[in-house]
Amino acid sequence: MKTDVVVVGGGGTGVAAAIGARSQGVNVVLLEKNATLGGTTARSIGSISATQTADQKRAGIVDTPDEHFEDMGKFSQEHGDRPDNDALARILVDNVPETVRLLSEWGVVFLGPLDEPPHRKPRMHQIMPNSAAYIFHCERHARKIGVDIVTQARARKLLVSNGEVIGVEFERADGTVETIEATRGVILAAGDYAADPEFKGKFISPAVGATEAVNPTNTGDGHRMALALGARIINQDMFGGGMRFVRPPKPAWQSRLPPWRWLMRASNLALRIAPKSAVRQFLMGFVTTVVVPERGLFRDGGILINKKGERFADETKGMVFDMAYQPDGVGYIFFDGGVAKKYTQWPHYVSTAPGIAFAYLQDYEKTRPDLFRRGETLEALAGKLGMDAATLQNTVQTYNASTDARGARLAIGGGPYYVLGPVKNYINYTDGGLAINTSLQVLGKDDVPIPRLYAAGATGQGGLLLKGHGNHLGWGFTSGRLAGQTAARLAPRA
Ligand SMILES: Cc1cc2nc3c(=O)[nH]c(=O)nc-3n(C[C@H](O)[C@H](O)[C@H](O)COP(=O)(O)OP(=O)(O)OC[C@H]3O[C@@H](n4cnc5c(N)ncnc54)[C@H](O)[C@@H]3O)c2cc1C
Repeated sequence: MKTDVVVVGGGGTGVAAAIGARSQGVNVVLLEKNATLGGTTARSIGSISATQTADQKRAGIVDTPDEHFEDMGKFSQEHGDRPDNDALARILVDNVPETVRLLSEWGVVFLGPLDEPPHRKPRMHQIMPNSAAYIFHCERHARKIGVDIVTQARARKLLVSNGEVIGVEFERADGTVETIEATRGVILAAGDYAADPEFKGKFISPAVGATEAVNPTNTGDGHRMALALGARIINQDMFGGGMRFVRPPKPAWQSRLPPWRWLMRASNLALRIAPKSAVRQFLMGFVTTVVVPERGLFRDGGILINKKGERFADETKGMVFDMAYQPDGVGYIFFDGGVAKKYTQWPHYVSTAPGIAFAYLQDYEKTRPDLFRRGETLEALAGKLGMDAATLQNTVQTYNASTDARGARLAIGGGPYYVLGPVKNYINYTDGGLAINTSLQVLGKDDVPIPRLYAAGATGQGGLLLKGHGNHLGWGFTSGRLAGQTAARLAPRA
């Protein structure tokens, strides 16, 4: 096989790269190891932060890339002295408005823009009805303009001749190994290593290495292929993740809506004019699906127990990665009637989708009955969870007796008792990306660009601190698009 540009990976970054290259009039082959495109992109919440978009203008918001750049810096302060890659951040903020325009042109419909402090203006655009719609529209557009998409094709190795990358070796589902030559360039858009126990264990910690990823097939293949050519990874210890409620047995009807543009536009309009209570009910489907429980629940007296009813960690100390070593890797948030009462109204919410809505305990009882258990007594609650009542009673007694365990928290009081869960720790993404230059070329030995090799999105994060919501996807689609255009403009090898 021979083509002009080969893209490795069919998440948001890869499809954007393929479209970017194809729009320059060259031939493009996209290799995706799974049976369908999507990657983490199709499993994300789906927000993109951007300025000067049609949605911002419609809402009368005057905003600029400069302000976006400054506000990103406010999030990044959370990382202390860790340097950001300002040159790449500049590329992101300057080009993400065009990315959002193109996504809309290809069929994507957004809700918003929504507020996310410390962004000083609402600039978070939430895709409707869910992030799989990115892939639906981008894949359709890519096929329409002639991108050749090959699924179940796992790239294994970069082919090199005279120091230049000239193609990719890949493996089909039946184990057949083939090669594809790229006369102009190869773009690595193979996502991150969130599902690779070896990299996570080595770069972050053994417990993180043992923790499940939201996307089980991103195993750092792009990173590995580039490392073999002398590339390096920046911020290899950074990742996003933590405790989430498990997925509902059946997705909420709202998120099962087909992503057709006319339907999403109609829904968007309806949301703007519908009564607040109806809008809230609609949004609950999102706010109680695979979201993060508020840490306040623990500060206010909730404890984390395992399937056997045992408390196994200090739940107030951020991420409890020991959960990976508990039965089935799950936990339950247990609390008494006092905490329950508190979490029925503002400002004590169980979960939120930033800028969209807040969910309280009664919302979980109604929209996520699979996560909600209530028992008048500890025995009754343990029975509902299939736990040994004596173990749960012992957990409560031991906790109440230990001021070390409780800290400033009140002892667990009388019934009724509640459990929300299962919760599980997930690694959402890893932030370690290959070092790249501002042309998105992968840097090799002594930081010299490896000829004809590009990386984008999570694979090519290049030291960018993408804190806050909506910048990972913004970077993926934007860097992919630009890498595709740049590779396509190279003169072909003789
Ligand atoms: C729960 C969750 C919520 C999130 N919410 C948001 C959000 O709202 N906003 C935001 O900005 N970011 C969000 N993120 C992060 C964001 O989704 C990712 O950073 C982004 O999707 C990465 O895009 P990508 O295209 O680089 O990688 P991916 O989308 O993961 O695509 C990589 C693709 O490469 C393929 N691949 C891997 N190896 C090979 C190989 N050897 N050969 C061929 N193909 C290969 C994979 O199968 C995959 O399809 C979220 C992440 C999670 C998990």
